[in-house]
Parts: sequence; structure tokens; C-alpha cells
Amino acid sequence: MTHKIKKIIVATRNEGKLREIKHILKDFGWEILSLKEFPEIGEIIEDGYSFYENALIKARAVYEITKIPTLADDSGICVEYLDFMPGIFSARFAGDECDDKKNNKKLYKLLKGVPREQRKAYFKCSMVFVYAKTKELHAGGKMHGYINEKEQGKNGFGYDPMFYIPRYEVTSAELPPEKKNKISHRYKALMGIKKLLGENFNG
Ligand code: IMP
Repeated sequence: MTHKIKKIIVATRNEGKLREIKHILKDFGWEILSLKEFPEIGEIIEDGYSFYENALIKARAVYEITKIPTLADDSGICVEYLDFMPGIFSARFAGDECDDKKNNKKLYKLLKGVPREQRKAYFKCSMVFVYAKTKELHAGGKMHGYINEKEQGKNGFGYDPMFYIPRYEVTSAELPPEKKNKISHRYKALMGIKKLLGENFNG
């Protein structure tokens, strides 16, 4: 059975994410909606054990309600020295009442005195596109670096000020957003999904 697509939902309420995804998928000519158009869809509990599972849970939940093909992502930072934590817990690393500042502080504390070569980390993003009850596409992306000894830079969000990228000798919060958006885990996952969409839906 061939699946024809006219519109999709991006399972996010984040304007920045939506803009980036719309830009990259514009050649398909699809109408691209977001969760803003579906206020009746409340919080989706992401209780998976991986970025992939959480993205799948989100995409499936939205697809089940709307029957519109849905793209969802999940992302976070994994630190080698901490057995790849915080991982899927990145957004709430410092507890329920946390924010970016508290999360970063907790990470610094856990890495206090740890030498540079043991501070390796990567951002990971999984993107899942659900387009029928049992049909899905999946792509992932990573961005490698180190947890810096101090915060640097004002761009980005979350863990960006503490994520040092050796190739550019700056943190991801010091990179101009246009640059980060071309090397990020999210961008790589999105390009992977774009390729799969092209193969499956003919652009
Ligand atoms: P979400 O996938 O958008 O829910 O992101 C999960 C969490 O991972 C965010 O709250 C951030 O703490 C962290 N994170 C994901 N991507 C990035 C990034 O590009 N920069 C900084 N932090 C990120």
C-alpha cells in the first residue's frame, strides 16, 4: 500500500525546533502543523528507556489521536564518565523543580576534578516519523565534544554553555546559531529522516 502525504504534525510546541524542521522539509511541499494546533493533546508521558523509544511514544500517541503522520524527536546529553547519564533524563537531571542552570550545576559538581580526557560527552537526537498504525521511520544523530571546565557563551540553550567542541575550539553556546544548526545532533537526525522520507514518499 502506498501512503500519500499532504500534511504532517511535528510533535513539539517549541517554535525554534518547528522553524528548523519546516525549513529542512520544505521541498516536500507538505503542510507542517505542530502541537500548537492541537491544544487538546495534553502532556505525553515519555517513559521509554531510550531516546528512540521516547520519540516513538510521542509520535505514536499523536498519530493515534489525529491519524496525521507525525514526526517526533527526543534528545539529550550523554557523559562517558557518568555511564552516559543524564541521557534521556537530561531535561530533568536536577529533579522536578529544575531548570537549565540547576541541571548544569549538577553536572559540573559530578565532574569536579575529573581531567579533560575523561570528560568526553555527546548530544544525541532520535527522530521518529509514524505514518500508519505499524509503520515508522527512524534516524539518529550525534554531536561529540567534552564537558568544559566552565560555562562559556550565550547562544543556544540547555547544556550548550558547557559543551566544548574541539574542532571549533568553542562551546556550542559560542557558535552562531546558524553554525550550530548545521553540525548538531538534531540536524543530523533530521537529514537522516529527510533522506528516508524522500525514499519512501518520493519528495
Ligand atoms: P528535548 O529533546 O528537546 O526535550 O531536550 C531534552 C533536553 O536535552 C533539553 O532540555 C536540554 O537540556 C538537552 N538538550 C537537547 N539538545 C540540546 C542542545 O542542542 N543543546 C543543549 N541542550 C540540549
